[in-house]
Amino acid sequence: MKCYSLILFTFLSVFLQAQNQLELSYHLPQNLTYNASIPTPESILGHKVGKWHVTHDKLVLYMKTLAKSSPRITIEERGKTFEGRPLLLLTITASENHDNIENIRVNHLKLTEWSHSDQLDVTSMPLVVYLGFSIHGNEASGANASLLLAYYLASAEGAEIEALLSNTVILLDPTLNPDGLQRFAYWTNTNKSNTINSDPNDREFHEVWPGGRTNHYWFDMNRDWLPVQLPESKARVESFQKWMPNILTDHHEMGSNSTFFFQPGVQSRVHHLTPKMNQELTKEIGNYHAKALDKIGSLYFTEERFDDFYYGKGSTYPDINGGIGILFEQGSSRGHAQKTVNGIITFPFAIRNQFTVALSTLEAAKEMRIKLLNYQRDFYKNAKKEASRDPIKAIVFGDAKDAAKSFHLAEILNTHKIVIHKPTFDFSVNGINFKKENSFIVPTNQKNSKLIKAMFEKQTKFADSLFYDISGWTYPLAFNLDYAELKTTSNIGNIISDLEVNKGKELFKSSYAYLMEWHDYYTPKALNAILNKGIKAKVGMKQFSLEGNDYDYGTILIPVQNQNLNENDLYDVLHNIATNSNITITGVKTGLTKGIDLGSNQFKNISKQRVAMLVGRGISSYDAGEIWHLFDQRYEMNITKLDISYLSSVDISKYTTIIIPNLSTRSNATILKKLKPWVQNGGVLIGYKNAVKWLSNNKLIDLKYATVNVKANNISFEQKDNFSGAQKIGGAIFETRLDRSHPINFGYARNKLPMFRQTKLFIKPDSISYNNPIKYTNNPLLSGYISKPNLEVLKNTVPFQVKRLGKGRVIVFTDNTNFRAFWYGTNKLLMNAVYFAKEM
Ligand SMILES: [Zn+2]
Repeated sequence: MKCYSLILFTFLSVFLQAQNQLELSYHLPQNLTYNASIPTPESILGHKVGKWHVTHDKLVLYMKTLAKSSPRITIEERGKTFEGRPLLLLTITASENHDNIENIRVNHLKLTEWSHSDQLDVTSMPLVVYLGFSIHGNEASGANASLLLAYYLASAEGAEIEALLSNTVILLDPTLNPDGLQRFAYWTNTNKSNTINSDPNDREFHEVWPGGRTNHYWFDMNRDWLPVQLPESKARVESFQKWMPNILTDHHEMGSNSTFFFQPGVQSRVHHLTPKMNQELTKEIGNYHAKALDKIGSLYFTEERFDDFYYGKGSTYPDINGGIGILFEQGSSRGHAQKTVNGIITFPFAIRNQFTVALSTLEAAKEMRIKLLNYQRDFYKNAKKEASRDPIKAIVFGDAKDAAKSFHLAEILNTHKIVIHKPTFDFSVNGINFKKENSFIVPTNQKNSKLIKAMFEKQTKFADSLFYDISGWTYPLAFNLDYAELKTTSNIGNIISDLEVNKGKELFKSSYAYLMEWHDYYTPKALNAILNKGIKAKVGMKQFSLEGNDYDYGTILIPVQNQNLNENDLYDVLHNIATNSNITITGVKTGLTKGIDLGSNQFKNISKQRVAMLVGRGISSYDAGEIWHLFDQRYEMNITKLDISYLSSVDISKYTTIIIPNLSTRSNATILKKLKPWVQNGGVLIGYKNAVKWLSNNKLIDLKYATVNVKANNISFEQKDNFSGAQKIGGAIFETRLDRSHPINFGYARNKLPMFRQTKLFIKPDSISYNNPIKYTNNPLLSGYISKPNLEVLKNTVPFQVKRLGKGRVIVFTDNTNFRAFWYGTNKLLMNAVYFAKEM
């Protein structure tokens, strides 16, 4: 009975507390008045903030209504997510500022231009603050707090708010990940009980795979600020570069048993290109958060977790752009209230903390305005000084055989407002030839010189050996491009103001055959379109020359005779395909070549591929999403997502290829029973990362591994996490040597290829040399961190193997060839595995 009344008491107090926490008075400062003509969130949403998780459509409705009601707010749609949701941005400032907003913006940008910045009087200039919420959709307290924040900024009255709005332009991005927020709101709302249940075992706290953290293609968008491959990031980086904010906040949630974190993070892990002053200002801003959280009694911590190393995160990208990025992490209620080691965390409590630090950020902005504006001006003046002293005056990159990849890198630079030029003439550096039409030159002495360094430099020495995220991302390596540093600017031609993709060469009609070299990034898209039309195509296993052109390994041959289409229709279809993919297809008059003739058996038939991929619980949704995105967005190829939960009841015989992305499960008997006979009957099974181990454990492929044994010597208990962390390979770039004649390497014009590695699986090379077409070199580290013992073992091991099993093939990659959609350089390896497996 005693126990019963205790439960009842606990329940009642949680219930009452939860009721109070839903009131506006729980969140908003109570020492001021609020304009009654501004609609409250409840009046538009139909529920109080924190009672339900706001869905994105309701959030949009509220923000649009607010913008209509308040002269302090304008709203814009900057594009759409993959699922068609608008990407909103609210500009919030005093109405007088709105009348003059373009001038304010242009003037603010002048602070970043050394030639103008000295003439500016910063005392009269507003500070620009970008507040960004819930880039991880299932960390929803931020997006829900944005409702209260927007309401507060629209409706609060009095001298203090007037002063804030006169001196600040606030860019409010209420949800950085609309698709993920919607997915999560649906989950948590549909599982909410009327009698709030805080038992962490409840379904409310256990989202179905893949969860709401990511976007439509399951990308972690808080890694995409630098690669900008996703529509959400493109919109926000464009806003960033348009405004160059002085402070940017990034509101997250962490594990439920944690309290609250605000930056600065771990000091020894700050990127060396970030000025010391950046961290000092971050600390000073932190004092405002501490004071505000102390006042409401919320616990917090700083400096011992999270870092400012990888510039692709929202809280670090501003640091290389003259601003201050601030990460906030709130212990998550995940649902509406959850029991934790710190007691019950309610959703409104989490929302209040987020709201509170958004306000303390604005308080800091108001108080530190002149200091932060000066910091921005000095950042660019110092960058200019450093760039003038730099012996490297420009960087050239390009690819004679593949215009698309260079174009996509140029596109990224363009989004970051990095100025690029055409070379004036063809030239060569260190034996590498750069063709005028396929190359780009980036002068280093320009406004965003530090950002250029952050994208192009190779770092292999570090003060700390722990990283919150990847340690290497050197762009020309990720794109597998030719590049070189230039000591002069003599070859710099015109600025590229209108970046345009290179079209392929015009296709001329042939009555004999067509040839397509395999180097261009988009050739798999073209081949897929060709095979979808029922056109017969072959792949050449050897090099040859014809009519004055050299054709490399893997050239695609389309004979004119014996097709379902007549000569004219075939030409029309191929012409369209070449145009749509911006690639070159060449019509030839004869089959007599220097090398293999076009009728040779060394041209092998390629059949249309029907590809499936395992998804669902246990599979890494990141890795699966990258593959889905690659097929669907880049190559317009179907890939069937087969969920493990229903795999046993599906007929898989119609698939030619099945991909198993990285997975976390131990061996799953159902998958094995289904896949093994399918491979033995001729299927091609491709496994990545942990799937490699799973396949070899289950005897689908015979592999031997090299292992590293590092013993703790003189390591104290306190040091144990650092010790084990230093042995991780968090993500770095390594050099491999290619056997270009092997079909896995078709389309690669050079015999070296940088690969991205995040695993400690080291496969020993096969004893037969030609079975090791991709092998780490003897000195493989190109960029990023790896411990010495790991590096020793990595040398001369292999990231790829293919072996027969019955009539089929098992193909394994220990490295992620599709990393975060910006590793264009290794995307073709997967396509080669799909199309040419039967020739391996
Ligand atoms: Zn997060």
